Amino acid sequence: MPDFLPIAYFEGQFVPFADAKISIATHGLHYGTGAFGGLRGTINPQNPHQVLLFRLDRHCRRLSNSAKYLHYNLSADKIKTVIKDFVSKNKPSKPFYIRPFVYTSDLGIAPRLHNIEKNFFVYGLEMGDYLSPDGISCRISSWYRQEDRSLPLRGKISGAYITSALAKTEAVDSGFDEAILMNSQGKVCEATGMNIFIVRNNKLITPNVDQDILEGITRDSIVTIAKDLEIEVEEREIDKTELFIADEVFLCGTAAKITPVKRVENYHLPADKKITMKLKEKLTEITENRDPIYKDWITVIDV
Ligand code: PMP
Repeated sequence: MPDFLPIAYFEGQFVPFADAKISIATHGLHYGTGAFGGLRGTINPQNPHQVLLFRLDRHCRRLSNSAKYLHYNLSADKIKTVIKDFVSKNKPSKPFYIRPFVYTSDLGIAPRLHNIEKNFFVYGLEMGDYLSPDGISCRISSWYRQEDRSLPLRGKISGAYITSALAKTEAVDSGFDEAILMNSQGKVCEATGMNIFIVRNNKLITPNVDQDILEGITRDSIVTIAKDLEIEVEEREIDKTELFIADEVFLCGTAAKITPVKRVENYHLPADKKITMKLKEKLTEITENRDPIYKDWITVIDV
């Protein structure tokens, strides 16, 4: 079991994590009518009594937008206040992950979003590496990413994660660490909880936001950082076969940070990961608040 932070936010108040319990009849549990966020908390290496949150505003805005898809009016400001209080109350001393969640909390059946109670909770857990930082193997999933015309892919809708779960288990069962999913057009989309970048001829390439990817906050940050580092960035469709001959491939996300890919199917990628490592180093520097240029991306909370 993960090490959960001791205090959760549940039904409008802060309570011990063990007391934050929902009923088996909870509507959102049955229909996937929830949406979540995920933020990493870093302990400031220069001051153990400070927690650093990366791009808190963006995370709160994305969750507020996800809530809109569920017909739930929850402002980004409200989410932000709760998350800051949550961190202050828990006083974490190790790297951790925050999971805010919005959902249809009514007890009852029949899938719908109208005339139904919604709610919001937040809990946290300690989190080290999500995937091996030394590099991973990926298979091309037989499962395809859903289409935006079937569900709002710009939201982190909980029900959508059945596809990620199927793809991850398929990958692990067949001896790989992770899965790369194609979109319905057969173009490279993303991994089970991460966006994807490739490098070809010193150019960084990633699928565009209109290609059924999640609008990842790490992805967005990498595009900005790369441009600042004068690395050329192209946001465009990627063919599956480009993965096999890429100079570098990496996955990125809040949990995974920047994770190099060593192998896609049976294609071994070059060991030299120059651009990946340069971006990874810069992202670490930023999340640890060591780069004043990006200090607006960091929220400092005294604990
Ligand atoms: N794609 C999916 C499906 C995800 O669940 C995540 C994790 N939130 C990402 C991409 C990466 O997004 P972010 O960088 O905002 O964590």
